[in-house]
Amino acid sequence: MARYSGPVCRLCRREGMKLFLKGERCYTDKCAIEKRNVPPGQHTKLRRAKLMGYGLQLREKQKVKRIYGVAERQFRGYYYKASRMKGVTGENLLVLLERRMDNIVYRFGFASDHAEARQLVRHGHFTVNGKNVDIPSYLVKPNDVVAVKERSKKVARINDSVAAIDRRGVPGWLELDKDKLVGRVKALPAREDFTLPIREQLIVELYSK
Ligand code: SF4
Repeated sequence: MARYSGPVCRLCRREGMKLFLKGERCYTDKCAIEKRNVPPGQHTKLRRAKLMGYGLQLREKQKVKRIYGVAERQFRGYYYKASRMKGVTGENLLVLLERRMDNIVYRFGFASDHAEARQLVRHGHFTVNGKNVDIPSYLVKPNDVVAVKERSKKVARINDSVAAIDRRGVPGWLELDKDKLVGRVKALPAREDFTLPIREQLIVELYSK
């Protein structure tokens, strides 16, 4: 399935919340959610329809897919993997998504949003434990060391993003050395490390029908 390449603020308006898909702009008053938080479309109603059951579950799944920039087939694959793991399926699903290489690059602040992170990973700017990794879906493990390659340390996009990381902050389960452009995965994230309002149980209910 083709990846969505349309206006991303529209996706936030559809979900009615900030999904942080547009880098620094998301933290300014130019953000579409700050200016006009109504569903997209020419004939949109100013009030959102009250959702229940399937509609609610579908919206929650779409929201999480959009946050991480994952296509439906791959997302479903994560769900099946999560359901076979020990523990709570919904939490396992979120942890798998957080462990993706493109997400880790974004969380360390080497990229200003997930789309940029995915592109930088594909272009081969990073190593994990000293080895080249250019696969956005690569899953990192605790104690993995993610570093910007020596030849990539002058890439303006990476430096600009890292310079702005204090506004967003690095999650507690990661450790960043801003000067060396190296980060370490201290542990896997716990449920309380997810700051965006996500009701993963609804996604589990949707897929387990
Ligand atoms: Fe979403 Fe960012 Fe656009 Fe705001 S600026 S609507 S958070 S993508």
